[in-house]
Amino acid sequence: MTGVAIFNFAVEIQHGDSRMHIETKSIHIGRGVDPATGAVSIPLHTSTTFHRGADGTFPAGFEYIRDANPTRNAFEAAMASLEGGSAALAFSSGMAAITAVFEGHAREGRVVVPDDMYFGIRSLIDETDIGERFEFVPVDMRDLNALRAAVTVAPTGLVWIETPSNPLIRVVDIRAACAIAHEAGALAVVDNTWATPVLQRPLELGADAVMHSATKYIGGHSDLMAGVVVVPDGSPLERPLRMIQRHKGSAAAPFDCWLALRGLQTLPLRVRAHCEGAQKVAEALVAHPNVEKVLFPGLHDDPGHALAQRQMS
Ligand SMILES: *Cc1c(COP(=O)(O)O)cnc(C)c1O
Repeated sequence: MTGVAIFNFAVEIQHGDSRMHIETKSIHIGRGVDPATGAVSIPLHTSTTFHRGADGTFPAGFEYIRDANPTRNAFEAAMASLEGGSAALAFSSGMAAITAVFEGHAREGRVVVPDDMYFGIRSLIDETDIGERFEFVPVDMRDLNALRAAVTVAPTGLVWIETPSNPLIRVVDIRAACAIAHEAGALAVVDNTWATPVLQRPLELGADAVMHSATKYIGGHSDLMAGVVVVPDGSPLERPLRMIQRHKGSAAAPFDCWLALRGLQTLPLRVRAHCEGAQKVAEALVAHPNVEKVLFPGLHDDPGHALAQRQMS
């Protein structure tokens, strides 16, 4: 019953945790005491198959590693809680998570994307069949009128938001962009890789899903590759994403989930240190005679400063 007990514990505190600080969530959610051994650190479950009872059922609720794995479930429970969602799905990489969202939304072929986005998404569009199966429309989403025009000129299924963007660190108004997407009948999904749930929680601002490359700050130690999508209760994306994770074989490996859980414990502390360091570097660069321009929303004269201050902590 170990796996089920861990998962149930996670789900229980996940639903009773609205007053918990993110520091508390990051060390507790998904990590019940293992009732079989009393272990307080989450076990790395590598079993590919699970015990089948005499009646042919699986008494612990786990059947096969690709469908569900106790360590992956624990990481997913932690991520759902940190982002304020009801479920999370862990994929083998951030790109696998993004591909799953593009394939899973599939109501309309049109996807509006930021003109400044992670280069891997551009490569996914340019160099795989994803670019042929869906119509991608790049827009500078800092201009909300441009976004409104892009989603109303033709039926749009999905608006992909990345803020702060990689690499130009542009800031997009999540609440306004989601509202524009919803008015046009589209879903809005936010790539929250750079901000992390410590600084920004898009579901609270109206997003239909949040995506992470856990390879970056979530993992935090440059030693794992994983991606996550977090959805709110009743999300139309949850089932298609779960079926893609399960049947297309792009679920995260238990070891990467275990490392990511380990990384999460220090996420709030690390992000605070990253912010302090980045601010010092940005100010030093501004003062440097050979530097023409510094792009960083932490600087008072950056075009994204006021908005970042409003929607990020
Ligand atoms: C790295 C990154 C991704 C892709 O994630 P992988 O884990 O490398 O596949 C997606 N979005 C952003 C913003 C990233 O920085």
